[in-house]
Amino acid sequence: MLKPLVAGNWKMNGLKSNVAEVQTLLDAIKRDNLASLADIMVCPPATLIQQFSELAAGSGLLIGAQDCHEGEFGAHTGDISAVMLRDAGAGAVIVGHSERRTDHGETNDLVKQKSSAILRASLTAIICIGESEAERKGGMTLDVINEQLEGSLPANAGSNQTIIAYEPIWAIGTGLTPTRSDIEAVHTSIRQTLEQLVGLSEASEIRLLYGGSVKPDNAAELLSITNVNGALVGGASLKAEDFLGIIAAYNAS
Ligand code: PEP
Repeated sequence: MLKPLVAGNWKMNGLKSNVAEVQTLLDAIKRDNLASLADIMVCPPATLIQQFSELAAGSGLLIGAQDCHEGEFGAHTGDISAVMLRDAGAGAVIVGHSERRTDHGETNDLVKQKSSAILRASLTAIICIGESEAERKGGMTLDVINEQLEGSLPANAGSNQTIIAYEPIWAIGTGLTPTRSDIEAVHTSIRQTLEQLVGLSEASEIRLLYGGSVKPDNAAELLSITNVNGALVGGASLKAEDFLGIIAAYNAS
């Protein structure tokens, strides 16, 4: 049984004044010993990583980042490298999110290069993949997912530094979610593809997160699906109360 991970992606939200949300999380993690149920991570914008990681030190709350450049240092105005994110206190980096793929034209190959940089920096890569609504309607979901996975996963990816997040694009921020059996089919297929890519034993240890409109009222159902080892949460991670409501799905099980 893999220890689940509930990770919050704050996207381009959060100011220093939002520190109260993190403090509420920290209080609950301590009071209810939540870190024994699941790994819990918040991925704030880069501007808040250092502050949040100092606040969370020793608490069991993990701090991650949302993207990085594929290099380490150099003439790349405005970019931030994985090494810099580690220096600020991040333990993981989300890459390949559909908003990056769409807003910035990121390709599988670039996501692979970024993931490699994350591994080289001794951080964990949370690699996102997911189909569009048209691809789902066209019956192409598994093909798209597996092509993204094969194209985005570095050859040396191992279970200790790799997490895959399945996020159907049409489910992100819409309140829509796939059916149980659709999620199970995708996650089973991801696991099988991973077996071919990294071998049976590593593949069995890689956590597969589901992301897309996870909320307190559907978390228990979504997180109980076979091969779903946690959640990547967008909107509902911004309020500590909602995020805790999602983590509570593991309390009940
Ligand atoms: C996301 O964008 O990673 C996400 C899962 O968003 P939401 O939970 O808001 O659908």
